[in-house]
Amino acid sequence: MENEEQKRTNVNDLGEFGLIDHLTFEAIIKQPSTIMGVGDDAAVIDTGDFFTLVSTDMLVEGIHFDLMYTPLKHLGYKAVIVNLSDIYAMNGVPTQITVSIAMSNRFSVEALEELYSGIHLACDLYNVDLVGGDTTSSQKGLIISVTALGQVDKASVSYRRGAKEGDIVCVTGSLGGSYLGLQVLEREKQIYREHPELQPELTGHEYMIGRLLKPEARRDAIAYFESNNIVPTSMIDVSDGLSSELFHLAKQSGVGFVIEEDMVPIHIDAKKLAIDFGIDPITCALHGGEDYELLFTIAEKDLEAIRMMPDVAIIGEVVNRTGGLHLKTSSGNLHALTAQGWTHFGQ
Ligand code: ADP
Ligand code: MG
Repeated sequence: MENEEQKRTNVNDLGEFGLIDHLTFEAIIKQPSTIMGVGDDAAVIDTGDFFTLVSTDMLVEGIHFDLMYTPLKHLGYKAVIVNLSDIYAMNGVPTQITVSIAMSNRFSVEALEELYSGIHLACDLYNVDLVGGDTTSSQKGLIISVTALGQVDKASVSYRRGAKEGDIVCVTGSLGGSYLGLQVLEREKQIYREHPELQPELTGHEYMIGRLLKPEARRDAIAYFESNNIVPTSMIDVSDGLSSELFHLAKQSGVGFVIEEDMVPIHIDAKKLAIDFGIDPITCALHGGEDYELLFTIAEKDLEAIRMMPDVAIIGEVVNRTGGLHLKTSSGNLHALTAQGWTHFGQ
């Protein structure tokens, strides 16, 4: 037998998105009902009168959350929210979820009840039914995987691929807060390890910590689009940072972007905290993760209606693909954006 050396490629060489592309490019669509497979915030399936949306996200202890500062109820709530956010990002309405958990024997029934109290709360507040899941054990730690189903009118679905030159770029809420909340909690964790007698210093950072531990999904934006007959030409939720999401829209729509630095919404407390940490606030907005806001583009005809929309910022415009992706500073300088987002493989 030949002594063939097995090729071994490290997943870090591909990165998260490169890896997904690599593993899924052979997934040929066989069913005529599959309208959108891999590559958007949710899969889109033709179920007759409307499209059904399906999206899955998994949260892993030690990678996505640290139970030292994450209450289980909040974790359960967040695990649902991050999935609902992907359904809203298609301009859809979530309807059902399934929840799968794997846990070590370190978790008691009472602890799991806490986790589920957060799951039930999110289901109640977002009018979603918990309809199934799976329960199993793990050797170490807790893993939660949620699948969300939703619905969207066929004429109203927003993909990542529809942005057109001349469209206007908008984002809901504010960005970078969650990343800064994580920095505060990590800092306090470090201090606690060295000085367990000290109380954590969290005062003044409530907004950022809340953004990390108890995010909300922007169903208000989808409701506004519906009542104003707006269909965003493209949309994505901001889970990995504005810059990374712009790259997804640019790649799939075949366009470029110019984003006005001064227009990118950053909460005043987040700005202050970023400066305390010695980080430029815009860096947190561009590359911090887990804001769960909606980034979308609209046609110029919808501009007036968007100006009336609560809690939304117009941050730039869609340009020709050859224009690339740029951040325009207040002095008018253009800086090329980089795609650096969260890569959990890197940790
Ligand atoms: P999001 O951040 O919106 O949750 P992801 O970046 O996780 O999206 O995934 C991008 C796309 O790749 C989605 O369409 C998702 O369904 C798909 N995807 C991710 N991981 C896998 C996988 N292991 N196998 C098949 N498809 C995947
Ligand atoms: Mg998404």
